[in-house]
Amino acid sequence: MHIKELVLDDFKSFGRPTRIPFYEDFTVITGPNGSGKSNIIDAVLFALGLARTRGIRAKKLTDLIYNPGHEDGAGSSGPNEASVTVVLDNEDHTLSREQVVTAAGSDRIGDVDEITIKRRVKETEDNYYSYYYLNERSVNLSDIRDLLSQAGITPEGYNVVMQGDVTEIINMTPYQRRGILDEIAGVAEFDAKKEDAFEE
Ligand code: ATP
Ligand code: MG
Repeated sequence: MHIKELVLDDFKSFGRPTRIPFYEDFTVITGPNGSGKSNIIDAVLFALGLARTRGIRAKKLTDLIYNPGHEDGAGSSGPNEASVTVVLDNEDHTLSREQVVTAAGSDRIGDVDEITIKRRVKETEDNYYSYYYLNERSVNLSDIRDLLSQAGITPEGYNVVMQGDVTEIINMTPYQRRGILDEIAGVAEFDAKKEDAFEE
């Protein structure tokens, strides 16, 4: 499974609908400083609900909405809604139809060769709202999390390696580094469950 396409709409510096293709093996995004490369990574973290621990670069969710006056530090005068869609190529059926149906809570999800996860954030006068969709069905973050974890994509995992992560890993003690291997191998989850069981 791999990301096939990203669709950004009023997300951070992307003030118009933008489709970004991704290739199966290797895709590099290049551009001058401030052109929006890291914003693209933020978009993936945002849409897949992976942001909490990996650190999305925004103080509040509504800062992610395109603001034409952002450079001047002006308050938001632009749109009041942003969305990001991640299109996953699931042709190898990393996730089975059954798994997707369970997460979506519906079997009217079309073909699962392609899985789309969309997140929307909407700002109103005194509040904001966040919505998730799986193949266009409205779902909760926990549904997305459960589904992605079955494909080995977790907020604690190293599917996304952020700036500074490599240095951090180098500076870790061997014991801490072993913790990362446990996390990647999926052993950490069982250690945590074991501890919980002992406590009970
Ligand atoms: P570098 O090479 O320095 O890492 P980059 O390509 O990763 O640069 P980003 O950090 O992705 O650049 O983009 C930063 C730009 O995004 C800044 O110009 C900033 O003003 C703009 N930006 C961030 N949030 C918003 C927003 N809500 N509305 C409009 N522009 C925004
Ligand atoms: Mg950057």
